[in-house]
Amino acid sequence: MLKITIRDNLLFINERIEKAKIKSGRNDEIKLIAVTKTVDVETINEAINAGITDIGENKVQELEKKIALLNDRVNYHMIGYLQSNKVKYIVNKVDLIHSLDRLSLAKEIDKRAKEHNIVANTLLQINVAEEETKSGLKVCDVIPFIEEIQQFTNIGIRGLMTIAPLTDNENLLRNVFKTMVNIKKDINSRRYDNVSMNYLSMGMTNDFEIAIEEGANLIRVGTGLFGKRNY
Ligand SMILES: *Cc1c(COP(=O)(O)O)cnc(C)c1O
Repeated sequence: MLKITIRDNLLFINERIEKAKIKSGRNDEIKLIAVTKTVDVETINEAINAGITDIGENKVQELEKKIALLNDRVNYHMIGYLQSNKVKYIVNKVDLIHSLDRLSLAKEIDKRAKEHNIVANTLLQINVAEEETKSGLKVCDVIPFIEEIQQFTNIGIRGLMTIAPLTDNENLLRNVFKTMVNIKKDINSRRYDNVSMNYLSMGMTNDFEIAIEEGANLIRVGTGLFGKRNY
């Protein structure tokens, strides 16, 4: 039997990214983050050799373990719910925290970033569909939240992140992604300090083509690259 490799999966995903870009008339860069939760380091190395430059983890402990083993071979993204008491372990090691969603967390990120004399790059996580099981700001709370965190000098907001509902309802997915684009435009028009809307982190295995068509430039793909996860 022919073995499907990570390289094959990556080629296929890159083809689909290109098709989605052409379909929507885009020629800007779309960065693929390989979501490596539950994936062992040997397999991650295979992905890196195939061309992966960025990996995402949703648990601090896993992220720390992988950083220790892979060092500066890749860029790191914290994509999951972040407990305030764990910020100190990763704040100076990750390129981007995708899951800033509350004031207490902002306060802690700012404090720890100050200790390292850095500005921590973050995305605001938005729970567009207001799903009970997901964290993230409500759409109506985004602007007030940004205004509150203007006081923190060591946090940079670089864009927005969402996890869309798990559904094949294309209309619903498009509406979620369009809402994100509208929030981004609204924020841009307000010209805050320490806020730039460089990134829209949206799109996973189930929906990344639709996300790209609607404007995503960071996509987070796990299953499509590594196969089904064994928890
Ligand atoms: C697991 C996870 C992903 C990747 O999901 P797949 O469906 O396996 O591509 C993306 N984003 C977040 C926040 C995740 O936790």
